[in-house]
Amino acid sequence: MNLDLDIGVLVLLGLIPASIKFQKGYLFWLNFLAGAACLPLALWNAVVSKPNAAVLLARAERDAAARGEARCPACREFMRAEATICPHCRTAVHGREAEAPGGAPAARSAPSLRPEESLAGAPLKQRAL
Ligand SMILES: [Zn+2]
Repeated sequence: MNLDLDIGVLVLLGLIPASIKFQKGYLFWLNFLAGAACLPLALWNAVVSKPNAAVLLARAERDAAARGEARCPACREFMRAEATICPHCRTAVHGREAEAPGGAPAARSAPSLRPEESLAGAPLKQRAL
């Protein structure tokens, strides 16, 4: 029995469910150990588990911040942090005025999004607070 080969096989078996679960927003090392210990059970768990939306969203936000991007408050798509108009939905972003070439602030070409309006212009459901 070759111990080096056995450890290599365990590492490879652990990588399969660990990478699947990591892509879904779960801890890599916990699922790596589970895959090395019992591949069929860990693989089944990795395939049927639902993505962890909160972790995936936090990862996307962190990666976007590292790239110098921010989310549009209207359509939630990523855009450059210094952008004044969203390239996806053409919404003017609050707190940022477009500068005309002469230095004076230019008129907004698109209406800024008010919190009580959705993208279609229909009022959002009011909170009962
Ligand atoms: Zn947008």
